[in-house]
Amino acid sequence: MRIVAVEPILLRGQQGYGASAGGEEASDNGDWQLVVRVATDEGLVGWADVETLAPAAVAVIAGQGMSILGFRTLSEMLVGEDPLQVERLWDRMYVGSAYYGRRGLAMQCMSAIDNCLWSIRAQAAGMPLAALLGGRRRESVVAYASTLFRETPDGMREAALGYVARGFRAVKFGWGVFGEDPGRDRELVAAAREALGPDRALLVDPGWYPAGWKRWGEPRSRREALAMCEWLAAHGVGWVEDFIHPEDFEQYAWVRANSPVPIAAGEQVATHWEFERFIRQGCVDVVQPDLSRCGGITVARRVAQLAQEAGIDLVPHSWLTHLLTGYSLQLLATLPRARFVEFNVSQSLLTRGITTQPFRLEADGTVAIPDAVGIGVGVDEDFIRAHRVN
Ligand SMILES: [Mg+2]
Repeated sequence: MRIVAVEPILLRGQQGYGASAGGEEASDNGDWQLVVRVATDEGLVGWADVETLAPAAVAVIAGQGMSILGFRTLSEMLVGEDPLQVERLWDRMYVGSAYYGRRGLAMQCMSAIDNCLWSIRAQAAGMPLAALLGGRRRESVVAYASTLFRETPDGMREAALGYVARGFRAVKFGWGVFGEDPGRDRELVAAAREALGPDRALLVDPGWYPAGWKRWGEPRSRREALAMCEWLAAHGVGWVEDFIHPEDFEQYAWVRANSPVPIAAGEQVATHWEFERFIRQGCVDVVQPDLSRCGGITVARRVAQLAQEAGIDLVPHSWLTHLLTGYSLQLLATLPRARFVEFNVSQSLLTRGITTQPFRLEADGTVAIPDAVGIGVGVDEDFIRAHRVN
């Protein structure tokens, strides 16, 4: 079998990213979205979404490469290759893009392609991806509703009660206005906790550019970061997420060693080399590789091994289309421990429309893990054609 096309598909929508003031739902990136399609000469096709600067990603995947190794486009490195040799192709893409890639945009594009290749490999084997990755240990995972902070305590209460009514046993609020006003931050968290009651998990993602967009780029000191963990612990928060500059592993380790509340992070970390340092330095209690950023399934399965050896949890970051949810669920199916799947309740019309089989929350607050060949998520090709701009 040979790869015949690696196609970046640029989609345009009409919604922006943003938190809402009151109880109504927030919106993820609804203006641009990239999906990648890898096609083979035997008719097997892999699809993946990717969270990146979508308009630029088109050039990285299928633009004009240069003759020197390290400046090639990703499709140049792959067309004509055997798609089943996934890890060899990961290395090939990494070297081929080494001068402009290694992290960020090129790694995010590599992640999507790597996920497509794993999907093709599972389809070729006639297996669910989880079976190919080592075996399915569970049928479902508890889902946490993942959304943005609302601007008022009433908005938080209304939103939280809405998730409770839908059956969620866990909710994460992130970003939005959090960090702009310390007094209001406490009122927002208290309102969410009150609405969720004592038995549902409340997770908080303060953002690592504090004070929202007004003072962005000004980091918290380590004392401020620890003080925030201390007051959040008083509200029984299940974890505090991604609130330190992503390059500052030493600060993560210091705060985690002193924090009364578990620390979750890793959505900004990429490659197994970086995850190895992140985990070995003791930065987190919950490591959160994003399969559309970290290097794909090839990297994430190695992170799972590192997490298991370190005795920490792995909960993939997954706030995009249900393609990413589908890949994340296949990985979660294989883990010895799987606490949660991140469930993006803030999908825009664009991110929601890409898949045909949206995941649903079961009555017990879980999401069922597909047991079909591949990842068990279909794409709506009519929707993709209608929104395509490249
Ligand atoms: Mg986050």
